[in-house]
Amino acid sequence: MNLSIRWKVALGTLLAVTLGLTVGGWLVLRSIEQLELTRLTEALEARTGLAAYSLQGLLRPSSSDSLSLSQERLSRLQTMAQELSRHALARVTVIGPDGRVLADSATPSEAISQLDNHGSRPEVVQALATGRGTDIRLSETTGQRMFYLALSLTAPEGHPVGVARLALPLTALEARVRALHYTLGLAFGVAFAVSVAVSVLLARGLTGPLSDIAAVARKLAGGSLGQRIRTTARDEVGVLAATLNQMADQLEANLHEVSEDRAQLLAMLTSMVEGVMVLDCRGTVLQINPALERMFALRGAETRGRPCAEVIRHHELNAFARQVLETRRNHSGEITLAPSGRTVNVEASVAGGQRENEACVVLVFHDITALRRLEKVRKDFVANVSHELRTPLTSIKGYVEALLDGAKDDPEEAARFLGIILKQSDRLNLILEDLLQLSQIESGQVLFKQDPVRLRTVVDRTLSLIKPLADKKGHTITVSLSPDLPPVLGDDERLGQVMTNLVDNAVKYTPANGSIHIAGQVTDSSGREEVELTVTDTGLGIPDADRPRVFERFYRVDKARSRELGGTGLGLAIVKHIVEGHGGRVWVEGNEPIGSRFVVRLPTASSKNHQV
Ligand code: ADP
Repeated sequence: MNLSIRWKVALGTLLAVTLGLTVGGWLVLRSIEQLELTRLTEALEARTGLAAYSLQGLLRPSSSDSLSLSQERLSRLQTMAQELSRHALARVTVIGPDGRVLADSATPSEAISQLDNHGSRPEVVQALATGRGTDIRLSETTGQRMFYLALSLTAPEGHPVGVARLALPLTALEARVRALHYTLGLAFGVAFAVSVAVSVLLARGLTGPLSDIAAVARKLAGGSLGQRIRTTARDEVGVLAATLNQMADQLEANLHEVSEDRAQLLAMLTSMVEGVMVLDCRGTVLQINPALERMFALRGAETRGRPCAEVIRHHELNAFARQVLETRRNHSGEITLAPSGRTVNVEASVAGGQRENEACVVLVFHDITALRRLEKVRKDFVANVSHELRTPLTSIKGYVEALLDGAKDDPEEAARFLGIILKQSDRLNLILEDLLQLSQIESGQVLFKQDPVRLRTVVDRTLSLIKPLADKKGHTITVSLSPDLPPVLGDDERLGQVMTNLVDNAVKYTPANGSIHIAGQVTDSSGREEVELTVTDTGLGIPDADRPRVFERFYRVDKARSRELGGTGLGLAIVKHIVEGHGGRVWVEGNEPIGSRFVVRLPTASSKNHQV
C-alpha cells in the first residue's frame, strides 16, 4: 500500500494510542475486578467465619445423638441458616461431611432432602481437604452466578463434622463491573476520538512542510527552476528546505551558465560559413550546423542520431570519416560534391570522446570552390599573359634576326620589317598598359573621382575619337540620348574609357557598312534611379554560351580575329571593373536579328547621394 507520510504518521500514532488505551483499559478493568473480588472474598470470609462459629455447636454430636442428626437438630440448623442468611445477607448452606445438604437458607426445609449431594462441589471438596474452599459458578439451585466460600467445621477431636458455606450472587459485582466497562468504553471512545484529531493535526503539522517540500521538489525536477520552498521552520525540516533552496539556486545558476554556453556555441555554429558535423565513436551524427545542412541539402532534425554514412551518401566522405574514427588522428582531405561539382575541404579533428553520444570526431567542411576557381583563373591568367606577350615578342625577335641576317641591307625590306617591329612593340605596349590599368583597378589603387558627369559629353568625346575608324569601315553611328538624362556621380575619364571600349568593339566586330546605335535613358530598378547606356551593333554577335565570359580577362570569342583586329582581350574586363567601381552593372545581350547589345547601368547622382 502506497500511503503518504502524513497518513503513516497519523495511523502510526493512532495505532500506538489505541494499543495503549486497550492494554491500559484492560489492565485497569482487570485490577478493579480483582479488587472487587478480593473485597467480596474478605467480607464473605468474615461472615462465613461467624456463621461457622454459630453453626459449630449445632453440628457437634452430643452423647445422646445417634450417628445421624435428629430431625429436630436439622430443623434448628435450617432455622439458624435462615437467621444467619438474613444477617449476613448471603445464602447460607450447611453440608454434612458426607456431602449431604443439612440446611440451606435458599431452600424450603421440606425440599432440603431433595437437594443434590454437594460432596463434589469444588469449594466443599477444598474445605474438607484444607479447611477452606472457594468457587464461582452458576448455581443450580438459584440459577445465578454465585461466589461460594466454604469453611469446614470440626469436632474438638479434630474430625470434620460438616461444612458451612456462604454464597453471594455476583449480580451486583457484575453490574458494577459492567458499569465500569461502560464508563471505560466511553472514556476509551472519547480518548480515541481525541487521539484521532490529535494525530491528524500532529501529522499535518509534521508532514505539512514536508509535503510542501515534496511538491516544490517535484516542480524543480519538472524543470520549473524558479520554484522555492517558503518555510519559517528552524528544525530539520527548515534545514532540509534551506538545503533544497540552495541546491535549486546552484542548479539554476549552473543551468543558466550551461544554456548561455550552449547559446553561444549554437550562435557560433549557426553563423559559421563552414559546415560542421560532430560524430561519436560509432560514427553517429550528434550535431550538424545549418551551413552543412545547406551544403548537403540535409534536414538537421532528421540527421541527429543516425549513422554518418546514412545521412550523407558520399563514398569518399564516408571512407574519410571511417579512417579518422579508426585511426583517431586528425586528418584533412578534399571531396567533390555531385552534381554541383563543388570542391569541399574536410578537416577532421579528434575530440576524444570514447563513449556513445560523446563527441569523438569533429568534421569541418570548407567550400573551396571559389578558391580553386581563383587559383585556376590566376594560373590561366599567367598562361594567357605569357602567351599574349610571347606572340609579339616572337614576331619582333623573328624580324630583328631577319634584319641581322641581311635584310637590313635591303632598304625597302628593312623599312617593312621595322614597321612590323614597331607595330608589334605598340601591341606589347598596349597589352602592358591594359594589364597595368586592370591590376590597378583590381587592387583598388585607382580611386574613382566622384564628380557629376554628363553622359552626353562622354558620348560626344568618344565619338570624336572613334568616328574616323567607323567612317573608315563605312559604319553609321546613331545616338539617341534622352534629353532629361541626369548626371551620374563618377570619374569622367574612366567612364569615357568604358564608352570608348564598347564603341571601339562595336566598330571592330561589325563587318563594313554596319550600324552602331548609342542610346541613353533613365530607368528605375527596384526603387533606384539609374541611367541605362546601350551600345548596339549589327556585327558578329556573341554566342549565348560566351556572353557571361567575355568580361573575363583575355577571353575572346575568336582569338585570331581579335588579335588581327588589334584586341588585347582586356577591354571588357576593364569596362566591367570601372562600371562596378561606380556601383553599376554591365552585361551583353543579343541584338535582333544580328549583332550585340552591351548594356551599362549606372546609378544617377541623386540616387547615389540619397543612398549616402
Ligand atoms: P578584345 O581586345 O579582344 O576586343 P575585349 O575584352 O574588348 O577584348 O572583348 C573580348 C571579346 O568579346 C572579344 O575578343 C570578342 O570576341 C568579343 N566582343 C567584344 N565586343 C564585341 C562585339 N561588339 N561584337 C562581337 N563580339 C564582341
